[in-house]
Amino acid sequence: MGIFDNVKSAASSAASKTKNLAETTKLSLSINSKEGDIKEIYNKIGEAFYLCCREGAEGELEVLCEKIDTLKNEIAEIRTKILKIKNISLCPVCNAENTAESKFCAKCGASLPVVAPEEAPAEATAETALCANCQAPLAPGAVFCGSCGFKNA
Ligand SMILES: [Zn+2]
Ligand SMILES: [Zn+2]
Repeated sequence: MGIFDNVKSAASSAASKTKNLAETTKLSLSINSKEGDIKEIYNKIGEAFYLCCREGAEGELEVLCEKIDTLKNEIAEIRTKILKIKNISLCPVCNAENTAESKFCAKCGASLPVVAPEEAPAEATAETALCANCQAPLAPGAVFCGSCGFKNA
């Protein structure tokens, strides 16, 4: 073996090490992505279980389902808080946002659950349209009066 052969072989061994590193990095990445896929499927299985078998859950699964229940309740409470801060009440029929003082949905006319207002209602301005039936100020774009439910065309 001449000196050039040694250099060549060292170079090719270094090159193959680099190649191996690139290869294993690529393979590790594909493991990571597959593990991510598995986690996503676990999530779906968990959600499917919660939706179908919440009532029959036992042992550890029941405890976990109860945790989800608690979190869902907490989310609902926070949502209610946000609506209260924004002074909004959601229509139970069409989900439209109405002012908390409204007794009827401005979009579909459904009667709204009464929410005690935290602040005084906004003063009617010159631009505010008034209900043709009861003269209450209408919310912007409202079709139905928030006070009496009268349909204002
Ligand atoms: Zn509505
Ligand atoms: Zn009215």
